[in-house]
Amino acid sequence: MRKLKYRALIVALFSTAVIALLGYFGWRAFNDGAYWASYQANGNIYSSGKLTRGTITDRGGKTLASLTENGIVYSEDPLTRASTLHLIGDNAGNIAFGAYRQFRTDLTGWDYIHGVSGEGGSVALSISAEAQREAYSALDGRSGAVAVVDYETGEIIVCATSPGFDPYNLPEVLPDGAYINRAISAAYTPGSVFKLVTMAAAIENIPDLYERNFHCEGETVIGGGKITCAAKHGDMKIEDAMAKSCNCVFAALAAEIGGETMQKYADKFGFTSKIDITGARISAGRYTGKESDDTALAWSGVGQSDDLVVPMALARYCAAIANGGEINELTLKKGESGERTRLLEKNTAERLAEVMGYTVKHSYGEENFPALELHAKSGTAEVGGGKRPNSWFCGFIENDGAPYAFAVIIENGGWGIGEAADCARNVLNILIQ
Ligand SMILES: [Zn+2]
Repeated sequence: MRKLKYRALIVALFSTAVIALLGYFGWRAFNDGAYWASYQANGNIYSSGKLTRGTITDRGGKTLASLTENGIVYSEDPLTRASTLHLIGDNAGNIAFGAYRQFRTDLTGWDYIHGVSGEGGSVALSISAEAQREAYSALDGRSGAVAVVDYETGEIIVCATSPGFDPYNLPEVLPDGAYINRAISAAYTPGSVFKLVTMAAAIENIPDLYERNFHCEGETVIGGGKITCAAKHGDMKIEDAMAKSCNCVFAALAAEIGGETMQKYADKFGFTSKIDITGARISAGRYTGKESDDTALAWSGVGQSDDLVVPMALARYCAAIANGGEINELTLKKGESGERTRLLEKNTAERLAEVMGYTVKHSYGEENFPALELHAKSGTAEVGGGKRPNSWFCGFIENDGAPYAFAVIIENGGWGIGEAADCARNVLNILIQ
């Protein structure tokens, strides 16, 4: 009798385990079915490791590429092909983070009822193909990148890199780094655009920042090392130190704030770590103020020393400034922004926005950006080796229905307010139409 009871118990336990496992499998299938179906070993929808169905469009529904038995079929327009190639991916698989890999669960067209359907699915990227083409044209073969994000939604509107190439007309020799998407995967010396970071730290750590009188003699000595300015800027308040982009003032502010605190801000703003966004990953930049001596710390506050910034990370920071300090984490997929993230205190964001508006008005000239309600900062980053400096321009516009933040870099482009600003103006003008 006792033996029978024991056996019944075993059977009961066993069947409970089977039911639990079935339930678990059902739950997993419901949640992960699309992912399983898109697994590369699924011979029905893959050919030599590549998905054979699905369509990739821009945010307006314009087809950018289709996945077929013969690989990726791109747009008929050569400029669309070259400008969006790094977002779609290439047939040889040399480009990282192409949409055909990142969004394969959407592209298989899997659903709970039909499984994988014949036609495949589609995915709408967040980018505007028209603005993307304009950015690629404006870069005009020079090495560089254009990043534009919608600061209200977190959608990436432009993610353009140069040099690129037309996948249907491969040059005999590809330009250096042609597979790299410089907007998200390349880190550059930021130069004066980094003053926006030093300024944020100063606003929150130097209580009398706005009452202080600053003075510039064209150079100053910090920690025994010389810091130089482009000119003798004379007497000024903090707003004019930004508008004139005075190295002496911002270098001294970084030294006063201290390496630990400067580091805390650079880290918090996302400049030193990889940032996972929907459909891609922004590479890490670099900031080492915490370990620097006083002279290097001072230079780090004006974006030199060994500072490195990724263009999309800077556009993300500008988006936070434009949006009261908070953003939806960025996405390359239309309507799919990530978690709400606060980068800056509201008051700090508002003061940065103000000083960027002041800088356009008093330094760059609003008349040079007609029709744009622009807030911006330029950067001219010394790169050494006798090369022209890198040209940066970043900021945001407040035009109705065009909530866009941006960052543009042109390698060895010279003054920031020259080549990078021209490029930004062209792209923003397309976006406000
Ligand atoms: Zn100065």
